[in-house]
Amino acid sequence: MPEMTVLTTIADVSAWSTGRRRLGETIGFVPTMGYLHDGHASLIRSAADRCDAVVASIFVNPLQFAAGEDLEDYPRDLEHDTAVARDAGAHVVFAPDVREMYPRPPLTAVAVDEVSAGLEGASRPTHFSGVATVVAKLFSIIGPCSAFFGEKDFQQLAVVRRMVADLSIPVEVVGCPTQREPDGLAMSSRNVYLDRAQRSAARVLHDALTRACAVARERASRGHEVTASDLEAVMTECVADEPLADLDYAACVHSDDLSVVTGPLAGELRLLLAVRFGSTRLIDNLGLTLT
Ligand code: AMP
Repeated sequence: MPEMTVLTTIADVSAWSTGRRRLGETIGFVPTMGYLHDGHASLIRSAADRCDAVVASIFVNPLQFAAGEDLEDYPRDLEHDTAVARDAGAHVVFAPDVREMYPRPPLTAVAVDEVSAGLEGASRPTHFSGVATVVAKLFSIIGPCSAFFGEKDFQQLAVVRRMVADLSIPVEVVGCPTQREPDGLAMSSRNVYLDRAQRSAARVLHDALTRACAVARERASRGHEVTASDLEAVMTECVADEPLADLDYAACVHSDDLSVVTGPLAGELRLLLAVRFGSTRLIDNLGLTLT
């Protein structure tokens, strides 16, 4: 197990990264908002497998929360998080406070149009600009070779990939598979908000996604056409059958740029869902390849 240090200032983590780069080491970076679970740990393990030195950041970024969202209530547990990060192979946890990251309100923002607009962006119009801005800032501070993001937040991954490409940021973006609970529910820091009945009902996200994929494959195997709205209807019906679930969106889009699919489905596709259980909003997605 590597020695692990918790750093809280930009100057300290920058100096640490610069030192490691001078030694010729590669730096892997895993940005998080903390309350770490095995999904986060899997990203840190991937970074440790591929890079010499690993930084995980823990920062609940106010820029990506709108008024009325769960910024104040977002679960926090730095002691637990440092133990998880250490066990997964991190060398540094960077845990700045808000004043360290934003000593004055930033006048600069990174906006990734189009990829940010639909799906999550429709319900949370300022969210991805907040994400892109903090990720760009963390990349500048840490200077990683590679950064690791979960497919669980598939639109976020697409936004970061596009930002890095558009701005020629010299960071390899690595997408990592979603880690799930035994019943299929995607691990999420927000699962802690669910009561027992909601937790049990929340399996409907994965059930709806797998059902839609199965329908698509079955129809394709019989030579029948299937459209995005067919699969959106399958997911909508599944979610409607769960009384505690309230659908925000169900979508089937092109996997690379999340654009709407018109006509018969083919190629690399992504099915995405957002569902509310009381005041808790959960998202999930699955890939589907049709030839
Ligand atoms: P968060 O702390 O929710 O901002 O997430 C930090 C990173 O962990 C993001 O890249 C997420 O996509 C990733 N992540 C969150 N949940 C999971 C999961 N269940 N499996 C894999 N990665 C995840």
